Amino acid sequence: MYANIIVDVSAKQVNRAFTYIIPEEMKGLIDVGCRVIVPFNHRKIMGIVVGITDKYEENYELKEIIELLDLVPILNKEMLEIGYDMVNNNTGFLIEAFKTIIPSSLLMKYKKSLVKLNDNKLNEFFISDKISYDDIPTNLKNVLKEEIVKKNIEIVYEAVSKEKILSDTYVKLNKYQFDLPNKQQEIVDYLLKNDDVKKSEILEKGYSLSSLQTLTKKEIVSLYKKEKYRQIKDVYEIVNKKVDLNFEQQSCYDSIYDSLGNSETFLLHGVTGSGKTEIYLDIIEEVLNRGQNAIFLVPEISLTPQMVSRVKGRFLNNVAVFHSGLSSEEKYDEWRRIFRDEVRVVVGARSAIFVPLNNLGIIIIDEEHEQSYKQDNGFRYNSKDVALFRSKYHSCPLVLGSATPDVISYDKALKKEYKLLEIKKRANQSSLPKIHLVNMIDELNNGNKTMFSNKLDELIIDRLNKKEQIILLINRRGYSSFVLCRSCGEVIKCDSCDVSMTYHKHSDSLMCHYCGIKKDKPIKCPKCGSPKIKEVGVGTEQVSEYVKARYNARVLRMDADTTTNKNAHAEILNQFQLGEADVLVGTQMISKGLDFKNVTLVGMLMADMILKLPDYRNSERTYQLIMQVAGRCGRHEKNGDVVVQGYNTDHYSITSSLSGNYVEFYENEMRVRNMGKYPPYVKMTQILITHKDYKEAFKRAREIVKELKSDDCQIFGPAFAPITKIKDNYRVHIMIKSKSKIDLLKILEKNQDINIYIDNDPILI
Ligand code: ADP
Ligand code: ZN
Ligand code: ZN
Repeated sequence: MYANIIVDVSAKQVNRAFTYIIPEEMKGLIDVGCRVIVPFNHRKIMGIVVGITDKYEENYELKEIIELLDLVPILNKEMLEIGYDMVNNNTGFLIEAFKTIIPSSLLMKYKKSLVKLNDNKLNEFFISDKISYDDIPTNLKNVLKEEIVKKNIEIVYEAVSKEKILSDTYVKLNKYQFDLPNKQQEIVDYLLKNDDVKKSEILEKGYSLSSLQTLTKKEIVSLYKKEKYRQIKDVYEIVNKKVDLNFEQQSCYDSIYDSLGNSETFLLHGVTGSGKTEIYLDIIEEVLNRGQNAIFLVPEISLTPQMVSRVKGRFLNNVAVFHSGLSSEEKYDEWRRIFRDEVRVVVGARSAIFVPLNNLGIIIIDEEHEQSYKQDNGFRYNSKDVALFRSKYHSCPLVLGSATPDVISYDKALKKEYKLLEIKKRANQSSLPKIHLVNMIDELNNGNKTMFSNKLDELIIDRLNKKEQIILLINRRGYSSFVLCRSCGEVIKCDSCDVSMTYHKHSDSLMCHYCGIKKDKPIKCPKCGSPKIKEVGVGTEQVSEYVKARYNARVLRMDADTTTNKNAHAEILNQFQLGEADVLVGTQMISKGLDFKNVTLVGMLMADMILKLPDYRNSERTYQLIMQVAGRCGRHEKNGDVVVQGYNTDHYSITSSLSGNYVEFYENEMRVRNMGKYPPYVKMTQILITHKDYKEAFKRAREIVKELKSDDCQIFGPAFAPITKIKDNYRVHIMIKSKSKIDLLKILEKNQDINIYIDNDPILI
């Protein structure tokens, strides 16, 4: 018997499997989807079994598999097929695809142990303290495997570092004494006054470790370990409400309902607040009633705590939350709950599309236009493609929802590839907010030198008087406060990256947001020595300061700086919800999915900023951002206003937002894309090479271009990518436009000695 194995060698990757001999003792144990250790070029490496056969057609001498890592496949049949599908749709290696599917926490080094799920004699034998998994003789592993398949026993992969990660050591006071030496008495007194004291806390307070040890010896105190709380914390209040769908919602619901059991894709286009989420929840409920399961993707969990609380509110313990913000242990816990069939609904970001949930009845992707569904580093994939695959695999509908669909999705809907469902009105009869465009050049000409237009200023004062809330969004991507020399125009850039460093007022320092390096603000210009060096630009921090000073308002700020802690997003949003602030100032982070009753004014500063960046989607991004953020206000009884400020306010991506007519924007955008030959009219592919030496990068890129020459595609470059350098690596790219997908795997295989990335439909930075 032989196994076909995809091996994990970084230097010589190929998408073909190698054949290995299955040793006698592994027969009957080994399965497709299991990980193994095999010899390869005199090394031992990991591989994944993709096939088991009786014969082989290799012309090399076969070797034996050394070790079997999984008794139960870590990748089931569907997951394996997803891997193949991903490499078909993208350019990359199977092993990378498989490693993308398996949560990284399962790929770490593990100590295996067995957990009993049911009582019987056999299990007693396997699960004793004396026998570890590795001690179980091979001939008994067959029996063990059967028990695992029957779900009587489970193998638990414990991270080797488990102790450190998962438990805290606590100190308990056993008996109080008042006659101890000073240093010991301090500790005992502290323990008397405080509950649940961690050992680390005692030491942090400056108490002596040796005294603590003495107390332990005397048994006055004892140490105990407590598992760390790994249940994912809900900062947001869990709500359970069910509404009666209105007529428009009901007809969308009915269409989806009728297609349950079929793999149809829907584009649910409904304005913000039209009640799309209520439709999702109702359809999930129906699917669960039928005994099936559901996957629900949202762009970024940390930004959408309200959404999670709505899903949890409805489906309670049946919900697992899965996203990159979880620690690998938390992820592993959630993954295990899914694997054990303990949950029915998985809510998560991009990577949640890979969860091993069986028997899917529906897949929903909310805010389907969001870029975050595409992975842009490492193995490139788009969760929408994976969702489509799974929808076919399970014969279940896929629902893509948005107020501002990706034009490519809308194009597909018009071409009947997707079924278009539309909701034109807000659910609770509130009208969409009124949008005011302000050109800041006119403001300046009229003598207003502040960062707020007169209109915005006037409305802010009005809302503060009415005790209503305000959201101010600074469209900061690619533009933030930087330090400029007024004498020579020099901008302080990062030494390792070709980007200007961002100025942070509270620490009076500069930071590079690509590599994280920090620098003090220089007192004189590094180029000309002039002391006239000053920060310019508008950032969230400046706006917050300005709002506090001018209006004496209570301000909350949400940006990369204020949200470094894990639950920070949810906590800030919760505070705002509770009315602890009048104004929420933030970056794009605050544009998504939020639903605040009392918000009646949204100001958007520098709305046209990203139009200047080199990506063909920037018009679309601008339109989406305005519509999304506008959707945050006036969602309930009170009407809302939106003030959009910029310099280039007559661009169609901004003017189309006035009517809120998506189709008007769509038609303009498609005309522009057709003229410039951008997707969906062509396929775009990027080959990116990064190298310490830009000459070498260009040399290799030119060689690739020579090889690519073909009549079927148009090749641009090589040229520096928009950001020429990140972390001391130069970035050189080649752009290709073609009628259909071109096969670049050979290029990837041939150039494994350099850093090379191939991206279909790249997002350019
Ligand atoms: P969307 O997902 O389209 O932005 P939501 O589902 O969040 O819209 O709905 C916006 C608000 O309107 C929510 O507070 C929601 O509970 C409420 N809502 C939605 N549909 C109805 C309905 N049929 N009746 C009453 N309230 C509704
Ligand atoms: Zn940097
Ligand atoms: Zn200077």
